[in-house]
Amino acid sequence: MAEKTFKYLIVGGGVAAGYAARQFAKLGVNPGELAIISKEAVAPYERPALSKAYLFPEGTARLPGFHVCVGSGGERLLPEWYKEQGIELILSTEIVKADLAAKSLISAAGETFKYNTLIIATGSTVIRLTDFGVEGADAKNILYLREIDDADKLVEAIKAKKNGKAVIVGGGYIGLELSAALRINNLDVTMVYPEPWCMPRLFTSGIAAFYEGYYANKGIKIIKGTVAVGFTSDSNGKVKEVKLKDGRVLEADIVVVGVGGRPLSTLFKGQVAEEKGGIKTDGFFRTSVPDVYAVGDVVTFPMKLYNDIRRVEHVDHARKSAEQAVKAIKASEEGKTIEEYDYLPYFYSRAFDLSWQFYGDNVGDTVLFGDSSPTSQKPKFGTYWVQDGKVVGAFLEGGSPEENKAIAKVARTKPPVENLDVLTKEGLSFAAKI
Ligand code: FAD
Repeated sequence: MAEKTFKYLIVGGGVAAGYAARQFAKLGVNPGELAIISKEAVAPYERPALSKAYLFPEGTARLPGFHVCVGSGGERLLPEWYKEQGIELILSTEIVKADLAAKSLISAAGETFKYNTLIIATGSTVIRLTDFGVEGADAKNILYLREIDDADKLVEAIKAKKNGKAVIVGGGYIGLELSAALRINNLDVTMVYPEPWCMPRLFTSGIAAFYEGYYANKGIKIIKGTVAVGFTSDSNGKVKEVKLKDGRVLEADIVVVGVGGRPLSTLFKGQVAEEKGGIKTDGFFRTSVPDVYAVGDVVTFPMKLYNDIRRVEHVDHARKSAEQAVKAIKASEEGKTIEEYDYLPYFYSRAFDLSWQFYGDNVGDTVLFGDSSPTSQKPKFGTYWVQDGKVVGAFLEGGSPEENKAIAKVARTKPPVENLDVLTKEGLSFAAKI
């Protein structure tokens, strides 16, 4: 079987891989030195588009429109770009075995890939209801969303089930974005989640009340405090009903499940140190194995700002960690050092006409400010998180670029605040002063 050797090899061809390739090109890479191996059939793209414009009936996004690095305002790297740079894109190729001691990877087709330096960028995968043996969960039209093939299946189902009924299982941000996308496509949408409010890992009850009210006004039904425990299907094997734990039964033509993800680190189990469910790295994204780096969703890394180690499943970190790792690789070759990664957590989401951003840490007491009425013509509101007398996190719905920049600065500088009433009264103007 064929064997290929590269100076630099990236396994995984998602967001982090694309940004790493651009960084290699910026710092200098000779033709034939770098390869990206991806299970997907397409060059790296901005994954967040899949739950947004990819599913819209108008203004639809399709490749090559959203290849990296357009999501951060950068150049769009088309397959030709990789060719011009002499970077090999090895697509539709799944790595099924990794031997880090021998510095080799083996694909499903049996090819061997050797490397001097490896970057693990395998991202994460969705948790499936079949993983828990939920009755009937393997029915057709029970869909998930991670990769472009999943998005294509969703688009097909939406077309086939025009004006049909959709049940969204999960109230996280996949659940919220997909409910909106399906509603825009005129489906009758019901969301089901067990928690008392949506996005409980980030949203306070006050933030969630706005989105739940807004979604209700858009005609989306929300069932909270229960879970899907089974599905029935029709004679073609297509999902027909969702059975809930509380005894209710919902009709469904399409079910979309968004109940979380898990990092794809199995290939390297037992070969590399792990922590908090991810591959453990330092602030340069070096793993415990020499010449092996890991970036993006799959890593647990030092979060300098909070003196903690964390895993982050968001696109901004995927981009920045990839750039940091490549800078570190290049610097170490020249005997130089670079600054340690100093990440400020940043998450965002968009649905309907809404758009929010969050920066920092969501711990401590909270203060809700602004107009958070779901019926408002132009809702604009936010929340600050305050811990030990300092503002450590900030959320803003409907902010302008300057306002979002201001809340980012608050989260980064952690300004002291005398009491919470000041924040309630000043709202966004508190951030503007920082
Ligand atoms: P990925 O982009 O997932 O790339 C991993 C790649 O590795 C994939 O191409 C995969 O096929 C490949 N791979 C895995 N295993 C193998 C193997 N064994 N062999 C070969 N290839 C392999 N974040 C936000 O901050 N805001 C958002 O609005 C947002 N929206 C999102 C919407 C959706 C639908 C999804 C799925 C995610 C969203 N995210 C969002 C999260 C963000 O996309 C991820 O954090 C980011 O893509 C992580 O980048 P990554 O390179 O680590 O992993």
